[in-house]
Amino acid sequence: MKTAAVIVAAGRGTRASDAAAGPKQYADFGGRAMLAHSMASFINHPLVDLVTVVINPLDEDRYRQISLPFGSKLRGAVAGGSSRQESVLRGLEALAGEDFDAVLIHDAARPFVSAEIIDGVIDGLATHQGAVAALALVDTLKWSKDDGAIGATVPRNNLWRAQTPQGFHYQAILEAHRQAAAADRSDFTDDASIAEWAGLTVRLTEGSARNDKVTTAEDLQIARRFIEENVIVEARTGSGFDVHRFTEGDAVLLCGVKIPHNKRLEGHSDADVGLHALTDAILGAIADGDIGQHFPPLDPQWRGVASHVFLSDAARRVGKLGGRIANVDVTIICEVPKVGPHRDAMRRSISDILQLELSRVCVKATTTERLGFTGRGEGIAAMASATVLLPAPR
Ligand code: MG
Repeated sequence: MKTAAVIVAAGRGTRASDAAAGPKQYADFGGRAMLAHSMASFINHPLVDLVTVVINPLDEDRYRQISLPFGSKLRGAVAGGSSRQESVLRGLEALAGEDFDAVLIHDAARPFVSAEIIDGVIDGLATHQGAVAALALVDTLKWSKDDGAIGATVPRNNLWRAQTPQGFHYQAILEAHRQAAAADRSDFTDDASIAEWAGLTVRLTEGSARNDKVTTAEDLQIARRFIEENVIVEARTGSGFDVHRFTEGDAVLLCGVKIPHNKRLEGHSDADVGLHALTDAILGAIADGDIGQHFPPLDPQWRGVASHVFLSDAARRVGKLGGRIANVDVTIICEVPKVGPHRDAMRRSISDILQLELSRVCVKATTTERLGFTGRGEGIAAMASATVLLPAPR
């Protein structure tokens, strides 16, 4: 299933922050903007293929700043409209003609959306045209008279608070939004109500109180305290090492970059020694086995496979633990070919695969002064280290 996420950040809401700091989604929030937290949740999710953000054109500079660290999964921003509904429609239209099966629509002001909540919504789309993260009501509901006195107690059975993400079959929600716009209906408060109005089947999936919208200054304060108190991280470091021998050929693949040479590297997969060492370093940092355990060399399905598959898998395992990669460092050890001219391309390649900003990716090269098997030009060795930040219980 090809899935996109549309994050709606075009609101001018300044209720939660002072006007000078701009709308609340750009307010600093544990070291980065609230919007950046929301974006990261989707960009880091392995089942989300592309993320686009709908912004107010007035916020273009602010947005450019916070979007810089994100990799190629992030699409250029879309200019929002005069209402949330119009902004969502513009976000959906921007994805038209790209064969998306599903789209997840999310409010920027819900920065604590978890991978589990996103999983739940995506799962719901297997059986329904829409799926919405929601929370069952726990408070007793009172209906008030005009003077503030209680008029009635409303049964709360089967009542839910709808959150986001709200996921839909892409074409179905696009048509529903277009119909609503054509019918001049602009009174819908969320996308599920548009879907319901258009006759789509929408189910509820498990949301969380942590995923509540940050609306007021008090919400912002509580959310900031949550970040400070709970999202402390611990750093873990892993190392990896790999060797592949030369054989007849015309190029070697190093860190995803093809370098012309009079030999190639021998191996079961594409023999990308740099990516193998790096994959093991990341797996080492989270104590989750090694590359050979997850992708056994004797298993025919990995024959000739491109090594970015192994590296992405290791990154996905970090994401599953709620962690992120802080930095990676690879050293290629060989006499030939010359690695230096390809270092930047190799860094960019790793940065793309891991969705990691370039300043967190280092690639170095060294020779062994003609000593040993690398010195004799029999093969290439690579070593790597990776630091991973994991949420730690306090
Ligand atoms: Mg290997």
